[in-house]
Order: sequence, then C-alpha cells, then structure tokens
Amino acid sequence: MNKHAPNSPEARDIAYHLHSYTNAELHQEVGPTVIERGAGIHVWDNTGKRYVEALSGLWSVGVGFGEERLVKAATEQMQKLPYYQTFAHRSHGPAIDLAEKLVSIAPVPMSKAYFTNSGSEANDTVVKFLWYRSNALGKPEKKKIISRFRGYHGVTVASASLTGLPYNHRSFDLPINGILHTTCPHYWKEGRDGESEEEFASRCAADLDAMIQAEGPDTVAAFIGEPVMGAGGVVVPPKGYWQKIQAVLAKYDILLVADEVICGFGRTGNLWGSQTFDIKPDILVTSKQITSSYFPLSAVLLNERAYAPIQDESGRIGTLGHGVTGAGHPVGAAVALENIAIIEERGLVANAARQGEPLRAGLKALADEFELVGEMRGIGLIAALEMDPGRAKDEMAVGALGTAMNVALMRHGVIARNLGDTIAFCPPLIIDDEGVAEIIAGVEKALKDVS
Ligand code: PLP
Repeated sequence: MNKHAPNSPEARDIAYHLHSYTNAELHQEVGPTVIERGAGIHVWDNTGKRYVEALSGLWSVGVGFGEERLVKAATEQMQKLPYYQTFAHRSHGPAIDLAEKLVSIAPVPMSKAYFTNSGSEANDTVVKFLWYRSNALGKPEKKKIISRFRGYHGVTVASASLTGLPYNHRSFDLPINGILHTTCPHYWKEGRDGESEEEFASRCAADLDAMIQAEGPDTVAAFIGEPVMGAGGVVVPPKGYWQKIQAVLAKYDILLVADEVICGFGRTGNLWGSQTFDIKPDILVTSKQITSSYFPLSAVLLNERAYAPIQDESGRIGTLGHGVTGAGHPVGAAVALENIAIIEERGLVANAARQGEPLRAGLKALADEFELVGEMRGIGLIAALEMDPGRAKDEMAVGALGTAMNVALMRHGVIARNLGDTIAFCPPLIIDDEGVAEIIAGVEKALKDVS
C-alpha cells in the first residue's frame, strides 16, 4: 500500500501512469513528485514547494518557464493554421522559415533541414538516411554506424542501439546488428595511470581506427557523437579529441554525425557544440532547446555530401519513403522560430558562457571541499559532480550515493539529475547570479547531508 491519500493525484498517478526512466515497481510505493507550475528558472510542486530547475526540465527549457512570447507564438499559429502536413510537396510558412533559419545558423554549410518530433526519431531518421544513402551510392555493404559507450541518442529501436548505455539495451534485445560502440572519452574514468589527456585522446582515436580496420572501412557509413555527452554523465572530451577523431574518419570516407540535441542552442557557451570543439559534421541533429521544449520538435540538418545521394535515390524510387505526421508541425515551427529569436535578442548564448563560470567554479569548490566528490567537470552551462562511492564510510551499491544526493537536493529545493553516481546540472540559459548562487547553496546543503 502506498502512503498517498486515496484519489490524490499521487495515488492516481500510481494507479494509471507508467513512467519513462522510472523503476515501475518502486513507483508503486513512492509515487511521483507532481509539478504544477513554473516561472523563470523555478518550478513549484503541488504542495507549494519551490525548486530551482537545475536541469532545465530534461536539459531543454532554455528560455525558462512561463515565457509569454512562446505562448503567444503558439496561440497565434494554432488560430491561423493548427496543423498541416509536409508530405507530398505540401508545405507552410513556419516550416519553410525554420528550415531556412536552421540552415543559415548551422555551424558548417548545410543543404537541407528535415523535421521530426523527438531526438530519438531524428536519430532513427539519421540511421535510415545513412542506409538509404549507401544504397543510393551503390555501396550496400557500407551500413555500419559507430557510436560510443555512454553516448546517448534516444530510445527508439535504432537510436537506442546507438545509445551506449546498458539500461537501454538490457532486456530490449538491443543493439541491432551493425551498430558498434567505441571508447568513451572520459579521461577521469578511462584514462590510464600516467597517461596525459592528450595521450588518452590519441588512444580513443586509435581505438576507433582499429575498429574501422577490423570491420573493414568499406562497411562503415558513419560515426555519431554528442560534442559533450549528456545523459551518459556530462562527459567533456579530452583536449584534441575531436580533431583526432575527425582525422580518422577523413581517412576512410566515413560521415560524421553530431548529435547536438543537448549541446545545440547555447549549452556549451557557443550556439553549437560543434563550434566549441571545431567539429565539422556532415549531419547535425537538434531538438530540446530548439523550442525550449514548449513543443516537441527535432531537426536533422544534412550537408550536400550527405543529402545529394538521398535526392538521387528518391528520384529513382519515386519518393523518399519516410516521414511522420507531425513533421515540421506549424505550431512547433512557430514556437522554435520565436524561441530562437529570444535566444538571439537576449544574448542567451553569451549568458550561458558567462554564468557557466560561477556555476562550475562553485561546484569545483564544493568538489574540493567534500571528500565524497571525485570530480567536477563541465563546459559552458553544463556540469556534473561525480560522486565517488569508494570514498563513502560504508560500502554503497553503484548509484546509491547518486540517488541519496538526488533526494537531498530535492529536499533543499534543487532539481538536478543523478545518472548513476553522476549529478548533472544544466540550468536554463536565462539564469543569473542569484540563480547560480541558489544552486550552489542547495548543493552544499545536500553534500553535507550525504557526507
Ligand atoms: N540525443 C541526445 C544527445 C539526447 O540527450 C537525447 C535525449 O535526452 C536524445 C537524443 C533523445 O531525444 P528524445 O528524448 O527527444 O527522444
């Protein structure tokens, strides 16, 4: 029996709602935290308790909660044209404007924007486009895709296969054939004794090279990676990593896919993570902060090298047999355009770079002070504390310290996310000095509780 009053929102949630990324068995006992409203960087639960949303929902509410301009953009578009399709040569203004906007602000020259509704769908689309393209080029054997352990690319069949986390494969019979995972570029965890960061980056590139050689370069279509890994634990790659990886790919005619679902729209202190690390992707995937999650929307940007064979093949076959009902949804596109305008007008990318400094400095000071923290890492306005259960007084199961920290943070009014023993921080791009101080104060109290 759970502790909630009969017919309360919590009791009904337990009765009727199967949650994503939740222990369904445990949920029957503990139930949900029901969030009722939000304003700026804060949300309130149904008991009136206020939290600073230090993860921006799911790394996504860049402009913060309660942004009236997005409400207005959505309302006006709902009234004018609430839906229209983009299949069969049909189009509408918001999709056209957004495609043009994305191509114009892309970090490298891109030819086309293709719309989907979620990061997962966008990455599934990437896999299918890569296969379609290889067939178009008369290279049907060039289909394998290399991803990384701890990379996160979504949960649909192909995108979950790209994801390199055990929870997303185990009991789901994934990954599918032809998707491989190479070394995670997390120096603190994967680096060897005496190995410098640069040597570690070289080893990551050498591992990739060896994998391509072993599989046969003519069988590998693409490499996919997040500029900074998010859900795999906020892994900022070691110095020189992306240059070395790109040099390997260039040797073998292998496309590079940048999954910017978290990094895009300012998170790393530049508009794109690709700019922060000088990545030159052939395909770029974006979602989340594109609409600040006020509406589900994602996009795949393709350069001419990636796109041209797809155009040829659809001409031969008669259609590009792919697409979802909501592709380029007019309301989502209108929200995205207004959201991007807000990011530009208010200088939110620069603000993310600016506020990231005190956030990371504050977290670093706590990491130095509290024995239980193994590492602070981050870049721009994304950061993590790595809790080290090996330093705890009592033996702790993997993830138990992270969970305890998460509970303590909630108690002190901070919503972050524990990914195992990693505590991730990714606050809204609008955050100010006071908001950063509020996060740091809450984290300090939580660390005292669990120490
Ligand atoms: N790619 C990255 C880098 C992500 O972080 C996520 C979600 O967190 C996805 C893809 C999947 O996006 P969605 O949850 O919208 O399917």
